[in-house]
Amino acid sequence: MILGEVFERNAAHYGQSPAIYYEDRVITHAEFLNRAYRLGNALQNLGARKQDRVLILAQNCPEFLELNCACSLTGLISVGLNYRLAASEQLHIINDCLPAIWIFEEQYSERVAEICEKLSSVPQLICIGRKNAKDGCDYDELLARSSGDKPALRAIEQDIVFLVYTSGTTGHPKGVMQTHAAQIEQAKITSNACAATPIDRVLMVMPFYHAGAPNIYLGYAWAGASIVLLRAFDVKVIFANFARHRVTAALLAPVMIQMLLDAPEEIRNGPNYLSLIVYSSAPMPVPLLKRAIAQFGSIFAQAYGMTECLVGSFMYKHQHRLDGAPDEVKRLASAGQPYFGCNIVVRRSNGSACEVGEVGEVTINSPATMHGYWNNTQATLSAIRDGWYFTGDLGYFDNEHYLFVVDRKKDMIISGGENIYSREVEEALLTHPSVFETAVIGIPDEKWGESVMAFVVCRNGEPEASELIEHCQMHIASYKKPRVVKFVEALPRVASTNKVDKKRLRAPYWNLDQ
Ligand code: AMP
Ligand code: MG
Repeated sequence: MILGEVFERNAAHYGQSPAIYYEDRVITHAEFLNRAYRLGNALQNLGARKQDRVLILAQNCPEFLELNCACSLTGLISVGLNYRLAASEQLHIINDCLPAIWIFEEQYSERVAEICEKLSSVPQLICIGRKNAKDGCDYDELLARSSGDKPALRAIEQDIVFLVYTSGTTGHPKGVMQTHAAQIEQAKITSNACAATPIDRVLMVMPFYHAGAPNIYLGYAWAGASIVLLRAFDVKVIFANFARHRVTAALLAPVMIQMLLDAPEEIRNGPNYLSLIVYSSAPMPVPLLKRAIAQFGSIFAQAYGMTECLVGSFMYKHQHRLDGAPDEVKRLASAGQPYFGCNIVVRRSNGSACEVGEVGEVTINSPATMHGYWNNTQATLSAIRDGWYFTGDLGYFDNEHYLFVVDRKKDMIISGGENIYSREVEEALLTHPSVFETAVIGIPDEKWGESVMAFVVCRNGEPEASELIEHCQMHIASYKKPRVVKFVEALPRVASTNKVDKKRLRAPYWNLDQ
């Protein structure tokens, strides 16, 4: 089976119901498939051949989903380019994947021209939103001229359908290849975990150039649901859309949830019909989760995963209990249980499996594991060993197979021979009422090897550093408390969405290039 069949089925079964709500547009499942067919034919007429890369530089918009759908039918590979990256970073990705065609929104025309000057072979250009485009052709015109018949090109299950570049928190972004077969397995799993139905309306604001949004979207598409698509994150717009479109489910990053909770009451308390908010992509501090449940109810579910393996474990909403037994409350910090059909083993450095409660590296063997890194066999071989993807995350299982992700391997601090997980120090700091956000790193220490340093963003006024340090001691062992606290206006984030850039925080202390 190929991924495109999901959209063909949706058009056949739910043709007249909305596939996409976007600004003032409503696109039915039948229209959506017709546009994807037209795009597929147009790309083929431009000379695209099976497994050619089609690059898209756009904020979330229907055209992005049309391209993904067209690729999922015709055997082309969709590559979403992160619009927040610098030109040099985008150039790196383009030189890596060598697209045959580049679709972009008009607002990025100058950037596209700047990059094309540096390319030895310029892709064919298609501009979204500019009639009579000078450089390349106009997207809508291209579709209007094209046939809406089923394209002659047809994908097969082993084809690559998406090339997703990792956020590059650990180095140069790498292109993660995902096949139809893997995406279909994941769509089934996600659809099941979210209990998606054809009458659901899922709000998507996370960017489609990362793996998270397409993954949840495909789970809902699998069920024939509608999507409420937003270009970018804006608290007011989100709440307005919750009400206007009677949104039933949403995918949000923890930092977005925090912003929703901090919205003025009259906005926050408007009508909503939500029955599920999935959060993912970064650790969710427990104090924040508790506030979120208090505001929205027990509608939160957590997905733990990564571009390379999509979702590894899931914490269902009924497992998020504020009123449960002590074990259940403790599990608010957990990333849930491995999906049925997806194996997770926490390993020691010698590869053997850890005991319950013992911290090791999280490894995943899932039907949605990537095919490999594009153009980078070496990296593939070191990431996937005997079918297991080594995540670089540290975690442990409790006695009922709940996974706790304690830190990224490279963020762990070793001080005086003791392992300190930056996340537990952050959680301790976050229980202080003045702490809005925080990031903890290790800095060089002559005596202890490393010592703990905290960057803190405050809400309403800064306390004394000593007060925060003392506060930590109520929650964690004394040797884990920060030695240094630095108050900052904001934390640096990786160009992508929401991950704190600890590499940048560490750089000045370790004399690293920023
Ligand atoms: P990426 O490949 O860019 O999607 O990043 C994946 C990484 O994000 C994982 O290896 C984790 O370190 C982190 N991550 C994703 N989801 C969660 C989660 N639910 N809890 C904690 N960390 C997470
Ligand atoms: Mg990663």
